[in-house]
Amino acid sequence: MLKIIEKHRQDFDSRIRSTSTPEHLKQLRIDFLGKKGCVQALMKDLRQATPEEKRQLGKLINDFKQYVENLLSEKEEGLGKSSKDQSSKGESFDTTLPGKKETTGTLHPITQVMEEIKTIFLGLGFQVEEGPEIETDYYNFEALNIPKDHPARDMQDTFYVDGDAVLRTHTSPVQIHVMENREPPLRIIAPGKVYRCDSDVSHTPMFHQIEGLMVDENVSFSHLKGIMSIFLQEVFGKETKVRFRPSFFPFTCPSAEVDIQCVICRGKGCRVCSQTGWVEILGAGMVDPAVFKCVDYDSEKWTGFAFGLGIERISMLKYGINDIRLFFENDLRFLKQF
Ligand SMILES: [Zn+2]
Repeated sequence: MLKIIEKHRQDFDSRIRSTSTPEHLKQLRIDFLGKKGCVQALMKDLRQATPEEKRQLGKLINDFKQYVENLLSEKEEGLGKSSKDQSSKGESFDTTLPGKKETTGTLHPITQVMEEIKTIFLGLGFQVEEGPEIETDYYNFEALNIPKDHPARDMQDTFYVDGDAVLRTHTSPVQIHVMENREPPLRIIAPGKVYRCDSDVSHTPMFHQIEGLMVDENVSFSHLKGIMSIFLQEVFGKETKVRFRPSFFPFTCPSAEVDIQCVICRGKGCRVCSQTGWVEILGAGMVDPAVFKCVDYDSEKWTGFAFGLGIERISMLKYGINDIRLFFENDLRFLKQF
């Protein structure tokens, strides 16, 4: 039996030397250590031996088994390592190449300004309301005191959708929806898209407005003045001067255009402000009793003010942008600056 073990050892030695693939190594393990391998066969033969022989030969067989296992493990490790070396040789890595840059998007400047304005008014106790972009003639005009033959309709170049339906020309109809459904006191802002048939460096067919409305007992023009001043100084800086000029809107009376001191020249006069030192920023006024009548509010009891502003206009002044169309061209070189 000693001779047989020795022969197996020589056999194993020669085979493991010529083994160069993991597949061959696996076969070698099966042939020597498997259920039908030669180590098991030796153990089987041992059953016929005497107890004394069993002790001696059993030890030899175990030593041989250990020897085979050790060499197989060593070889396996060697093969694994060299195959790794080979694969890393295949894909050479140039550490001097520039890395791949992950670009994350940013919020559009219009969205940023919209959010900033919302935050200011939320801080003043206003709630955000939304309304449909397709309106009926009634909500867009009539309920806001703009009857069919009223010359004020010429102020807004309207997109007519179908019969009675229009793309809303301002966010003011949201006021009507809210007042129809709720009783005062009210403090709301309504941000959203509006549409007018107009296009040049300061007009686009779609733009964004924020409408504001406050209705309560004893709301006066000084409340409007206070809220507008706080808001404009939050957006353009504490030292910004604000002025009110008499104006006309069908749905407010009295009405005012609100100007701020030019943010470019700080009042000295420049191209942006046409040398006047002031730029027009929003329209506002006290809610006309005719509008309250449409929504069944008692204008003897309730008073209120409303205001509307263009987000693009505010953004252009805030960032010194001279062409409104830049906002909608989706040029990353422009958008990345915000
Ligand atoms: Zn100026």
